[in-house]
Amino acid sequence: SSTQIPKTMKGILVEKTGGTEVLQYKTDLPVPEPKEGEVLVKNDIIGINYIDTYFRTGLYPSPKPEILGKEAAGTVVDSHHTASPSFQPGDRVVWMGSSGYAEYTAAPAAKTMKIPDSISSPDACAAILQGLTALTLTEEAHKVEKGDWVLVLAASGGVGGWLCQILKAKGAHTIATVGSEGKVSVAKESGAEVVLVEGKDNVLEKVKEHTGGAGVAAVFDGVGKDTFDRSLECVARKGTLASFGNASGAVPPFPIAKLSAKNAKVARPSLFNYISTREEYEHYANELFKMMAEDDFKTRIHETYPLKDVARAHNDLEGRKTMGKLLMTP
Ligand code: NDP
Repeated sequence: SSTQIPKTMKGILVEKTGGTEVLQYKTDLPVPEPKEGEVLVKNDIIGINYIDTYFRTGLYPSPKPEILGKEAAGTVVDSHHTASPSFQPGDRVVWMGSSGYAEYTAAPAAKTMKIPDSISSPDACAAILQGLTALTLTEEAHKVEKGDWVLVLAASGGVGGWLCQILKAKGAHTIATVGSEGKVSVAKESGAEVVLVEGKDNVLEKVKEHTGGAGVAAVFDGVGKDTFDRSLECVARKGTLASFGNASGAVPPFPIAKLSAKNAKVARPSLFNYISTREEYEHYANELFKMMAEDDFKTRIHETYPLKDVARAHNDLEGRKTMGKLLMTP
């Protein structure tokens, strides 16, 4: 029954694009009703992702007013009769969708997973979007093989941490970059063999040094504008540059003729297009949960912020002050 579900809730509303000042803490937002294919989840823990900043600034367009947030973990409290798969009230779940920065979210059932008993809700929330990104990047953007040398940028970040752990489990050799000395040990703990510091080490030279001059089979680059050209230079003959983000700004257009110098491939993947079907989503989510349980993956939580401190959280993330996952409690 939906009798205990309140009419209004706390949440973060964005009415226009801009800096962190557009993040408005509200206490009287309407609790959504689950529509076609949706479950209503009472969120216990909310994930922050870099993409949230793109919707806030307008780098990625989206209709406003908007409640930001692509994932959360919590408890199912209601669902639409069309929701598939079906969930029961009380089910502990993690979901991916929209409008997560709130006490309640009407989430797509197709992107909702029950959390295995062995995994905590904060760990599940910290893992789902960033872990699936790392998993699909290393399975599909470039299928990493045992013994491959790869380069991971921003390796102490959210996605970067999962990439290092997954690559290690696959038996690859990871060269990592981080933004400052203080972040080196974190990238090492995640499994990177070589950790380079941006602005101090000559990354291209070091990559060549460690790969006998050949370069790496794949670069996983979520930094974007500042590093794209250098990343392409680090790729070996027939290798792949997977450019999957814009932390330093969007990559400008580039001439594809450049690729013929090494028969390189450039991929620009979006997680959502690797997991569009329920079958794909379940396949990868189950693989991630299994790796977390069996390969002893560590979830690094940078900080769990109160929802009303969302502006500080965005400032920390954009200011390169974080290592690992940023979470919020409603
Ligand atoms: P992170 O935790 O990795 O934070 C971003 C990191 O990028 C910073 O900590 C910083 O690390 C590095 N960075 C380098 N240059 C800059 C800059 N100029 N400004 C800010 N940060 C910079 O965030 P996420 O794990 O959430 O995301 C990482 C990237 O992956 C983002 O670009 C995101 O958009 C992308 N992404 C893409 C997905 C897709 O489907 N394509 C899905 C998920 C994420 P350092 O100081 O060590 O350099």
